[in-house]
Amino acid sequence: MSEIYLDYNASAPMDKRVIEALIPFLEVNYGNASSSHAFGRRLASCVEDSREQVASLVGGSPGGVIFTAGATEANNQALRGLFHQNGIGSGDLVISAVEHASVRNTAQWLNEREEVGLRIAPVTAGGHVDLHAFEELLPGAKLVSVMGVNSETGVINPLREITQLAKEHNALVHCDVTQMVGREPFNMSELGVDLVSLSGHKIYGPAGVGALVVSREVRKLIEPLVLGGGHESGLRSGSLNVAGIVGLGAASMLANEERSEDMKRLSCLRDQLFFGLHSSLPEVQEIGDISKRVANTTNIHFAGADADAVMANMRDIAVSNGSACSSGAIEPSIVLQQMGLNRTEASEALRFSLGRFTTVDDIDTAIPRIVTAVQYVRNMSGYEESYETS
Ligand code: PMP
Repeated sequence: MSEIYLDYNASAPMDKRVIEALIPFLEVNYGNASSSHAFGRRLASCVEDSREQVASLVGGSPGGVIFTAGATEANNQALRGLFHQNGIGSGDLVISAVEHASVRNTAQWLNEREEVGLRIAPVTAGGHVDLHAFEELLPGAKLVSVMGVNSETGVINPLREITQLAKEHNALVHCDVTQMVGREPFNMSELGVDLVSLSGHKIYGPAGVGALVVSREVRKLIEPLVLGGGHESGLRSGSLNVAGIVGLGAASMLANEERSEDMKRLSCLRDQLFFGLHSSLPEVQEIGDISKRVANTTNIHFAGADADAVMANMRDIAVSNGSACSSGAIEPSIVLQQMGLNRTEASEALRFSLGRFTTVDDIDTAIPRIVTAVQYVRNMSGYEESYETS
């Protein structure tokens, strides 16, 4: 059976145009971008082009772009790089309850090891930051870290309101826009966001490369995590991954140019998928506020069908169940539980995330296979009986 990939939020395949842009840097354009000879200068100039492309994707300035090994490092750099004596000192950090592990665990580490006060803003049943609760956590906060779009639900946070409230309390704002860029308009200067993190492999670029983009003010405050030869203006030492950086630049440019068209097409495909499943199966529901959601993602609750079991019965369809392994035990999605789903409900949810290369045919083919897998799991768990008799 043909394989169908509906897990773009985990990682997107590289766009052929990105591959074409970066191949010469694996084959013929070699050297070290820091060298002063012609080989090095050629590479450095291409790195600067990428810096502009990345800055333009997020509405930042090229001088604020620090290339990293992905969004995990960018999130670590943002949070750990600011909480030090000459940076923002010992003030408090506010994050949302549904942040990516690279923000959540870094915040926890800062709290436990560096005694940074940590406050966690709850989310609504719709999945966005609860603004009233958020506002109450702000007095005394020095930094707010909130994601633009949640990777599991696709729900978009009210960044304008969040930033405005944070600024009223003189807190800096870091925004993890890994799942937002290329899907929703975003401009850090216009919003007043001070730092943003992003990743190559979520926008059809290479994995293992990303960026932290900072404002001029933050540039003066932030300290490096990685020390060495002083690359990236002293903020991230290590010889530059030029092929990766060129790929990230090309992917950023395409994300800017093709976002609207991509999203128009994907919202139709996503709805085709949901309605196809909904019309074939009882008790199927989308999770999260569907009026404030990116076009490529739907997280669906299939009552009575354990998500792990469904996935095991349709191995040729790549989706995700959002569960995490903590201390050896599988924990159903923290994000969904924070939105008010109980453990059983959270363990019955599957995330479908579509992308640039998903076709109508993929969706048409996937629907009956998903329906069969859900029906099978429901039958095995006795769900049909309880459904029919309830
Ligand atoms: N933040 C978010 C919102 C993500 O979805 C991811 C990837 N799952 C990351 C950060 C980490 O990105 P990377 O894989 O580049 O480290």
